[in-house]
Amino acid sequence: MDHFLYRNGVLHAEDVPIPDIASEVGTPFYVYSTATLTRHFKLFDEALAPLEHLVCYAMKANSNQAVLRLMASLGAGVDVVSGGEYRRAKAAGFPGERIVFSGIGKTAEEMELAIQSGIRQFNLESEPEMHLLNAVATRLGKHVPVTVRVNPDVDAKTHEKIATGKAENKFGIPISRAREVYAEIAGLPGLDAIGIDVHIGSQLTDLEPFEQAYLKVAELTHALRADGHDIRRLDLGGGLGIPYERSNVAPPLPTEYGDVVKRTVGDLGCEIEIEPGRLIAGNAGLLVSSVIYVKSGEDRKFLILDAAMNDLIRPAMYGAYHDIIPVIEPSAGGEQTPYDVVGPVCESGDTFTKGRDLPLLYADDMVAFRSAGAYGAVMSSEYNTRPLIPEVLVHEHQFAVIRRRPTFDEIINRDTIPEWLKG
Ligand SMILES: *Cc1c(COP(=O)(O)O)cnc(C)c1O
Repeated sequence: MDHFLYRNGVLHAEDVPIPDIASEVGTPFYVYSTATLTRHFKLFDEALAPLEHLVCYAMKANSNQAVLRLMASLGAGVDVVSGGEYRRAKAAGFPGERIVFSGIGKTAEEMELAIQSGIRQFNLESEPEMHLLNAVATRLGKHVPVTVRVNPDVDAKTHEKIATGKAENKFGIPISRAREVYAEIAGLPGLDAIGIDVHIGSQLTDLEPFEQAYLKVAELTHALRADGHDIRRLDLGGGLGIPYERSNVAPPLPTEYGDVVKRTVGDLGCEIEIEPGRLIAGNAGLLVSSVIYVKSGEDRKFLILDAAMNDLIRPAMYGAYHDIIPVIEPSAGGEQTPYDVVGPVCESGDTFTKGRDLPLLYADDMVAFRSAGAYGAVMSSEYNTRPLIPEVLVHEHQFAVIRRRPTFDEIINRDTIPEWLKG
């Protein structure tokens, strides 16, 4: 369920008609619903109760400061994967004790920043990283909490570009080597191994891979405890999928996911952490765009929109599906026709979908891409010198621009001319 519904024939975001936002900020734009973001966080939070737990929102899905501020106010923790994201977390008000640092390429500068300003834990992904973090922590006279991200070698059954838990992926340490690595950490003065981390991929629509991975984590917890390590926290990653295609079978709910967590690792006495991103933000956002032209090709109709692959890259990058709906509600049983929905960028890859049956649309009509709140704005670029599009947050009958569209001067003046080309 989300909060983007037709009312009196017009698509609304909560209590705000989409055309009202469009007339203020122009198309294309992203719009997010506070109620949906809040609801999704609470679903996870409730699904893990009564276990001691922290839901750490994976901000790479949508890192707008206003979204982060909302998450912080709800009591969420946050998962960051770069020094930039760490700074965003602090700026949005997350205390260090609620910031988890993930990612396979943390630099010494990033480690130092997080150690000095406060961190819940580092999730280590390799032995070289473990040695560098130990060196940085020792130099600063600190003893920092870490987990090791183990790669459980399970098939997440998701798109190959977002599967991370198979032996062939670049993430984590093979689970078979984990005991060796924890033994090594025990001898390092700068590190305190407090738990285990696992994250097997994104957009998982089946609970089975989670179950397999978490059972392996449970087994490892026993083994590490027997080796004398005080394992007291399990970070189980993110990855629960969302229904991109409304006509398909819905993926499992957070409550069902919570049951898997309880069944597999619930009796270990560990504090549980999860890192959902997509499920919190994905269906909390729309990308709204206008039709520029309807062009008749040889054997097909092209719907040329003012949004493009630089605004929403998921279809070009992963062949991802997004529901596309008109902002003005079509009449029930009205005529439909297949369109190739494309953007203006000079790449054939700038195609959102081919042969999609949609109600008849004309120039200046608006459409909305559903499920665009995660991995949408954060992955956008200014390719073709198309300005980053505005982001808007709705709260009941109010809305606010939470990132404005830059001016062309701002974009052009970011570049500088070297002295030898001047004059
Ligand atoms: C991307 C990522 C997540 C979030 O994944 P979702 O599919 O958005 O829930 C969580 N943890 C780590 C380490 C990640 O890289």
